[in-house]
Amino acid sequence: MPRFSPAEHCRPAVLDVQPYSPGKSAHDLGRQVGDVLKLSSNENVLGPSPTVAAAVRECSDELMRYPDGDGWELREALAAHHGVAPENVTLGNGSNELLELAGRCFLDRGTNAVYSEHGFAVYELTAQICGATARAAPARAAADTMPYGHDLAAMAAAMDAETRVVFIANPNNPTGTWLNVAELEGFLECAPTSAVIVVDEAYAEYVTEPGYPATAEWIGRFPNLLVARTFSKAYGLAGLRVGYGLCDASLAELLNRVRQPFNVNLPAQRGALAALKDRAHVEKSVAMNRMGLEQLAAGCRELGLAWLPSIANFLCIEIGNNASVVYEALLERGVIVRPIDNYGLPRHLRVTVGRPEDNRRFLDALEEALQVS
Ligand code: PMP
Repeated sequence: MPRFSPAEHCRPAVLDVQPYSPGKSAHDLGRQVGDVLKLSSNENVLGPSPTVAAAVRECSDELMRYPDGDGWELREALAAHHGVAPENVTLGNGSNELLELAGRCFLDRGTNAVYSEHGFAVYELTAQICGATARAAPARAAADTMPYGHDLAAMAAAMDAETRVVFIANPNNPTGTWLNVAELEGFLECAPTSAVIVVDEAYAEYVTEPGYPATAEWIGRFPNLLVARTFSKAYGLAGLRVGYGLCDASLAELLNRVRQPFNVNLPAQRGALAALKDRAHVEKSVAMNRMGLEQLAAGCRELGLAWLPSIANFLCIEIGNNASVVYEALLERGVIVRPIDNYGLPRHLRVTVGRPEDNRRFLDALEEALQVS
């Protein structure tokens, strides 16, 4: 019998997929250098609310049971939080799954997905997995007031009759750049209604910028709008994998058709519910982040480095042509940040905001790394 050759028989689209690279692991580096500071995945260094651990422990007696496939209690709490109905809320295994659900509902061979150059990597990946064309619109110029940010006019120009999904990250990862109310509202008002507009707000809880759009209020107005949110960032629950989408009920009904029946596990549902209720912990994380962004920006200024404007929990720093050498020199000092050459930004490094002492350690290590590079 000839050997089964998976690559010969799988969907051709799968062969083009470049798997997502999660960056350097703290475990690997820990074996080499000991005390590791991981500032590479935009996690909340404060961790989750202490109430989450109790909620997760309490459900340990129920682990033989399937979770609520409708996630009713969590959806109801999220609906109340955002001023929408539970029918407008779809749960996902991280917000990553919401991006994929949109793809599985709307993308196919012969269609395309539009997103911005330097946009979050999963947009291209989702289009590729679905066999659709991934179409990156040019971003704003380096000299723009929002350097490397999304250019909505260019994104609109990239759309055609076959565009089924538009991915907009607000703020964007890895740049940290953002779009204000007028820009996003104007785009939604003019965009063809043959495409779902996914507004990815993974970092929204961190945002204190006054002009940031309150997109949940637009759900009734734009039936093609899907807002993706997550518990992975400000809520500190990246390990539990809980995200959600806010959208018109008719769109949610489609997303639910392609969703796995029990996609959000029991500890994740209970943990997210507890995290949602502890507003003080989110506020503490947001306040620490604001100060941290200022601390990092001040440190960069002292080192003579430029950085991109950010309203998220990370800063994208322009290191220069030696960015990859500086990255390695930081690793030698136990500090993990994220190189972003795969995002078309080979001269930049992205660093997650930490506690004041983490930011200090990073800046000291960066100063040394710049000297030896
Ligand atoms: N969107 C953006 C812009 C992100 O940066 C991330 C995480 N890096 C995600 C979505 C997905 O996060 P999660 O699946 O953990 O919610």
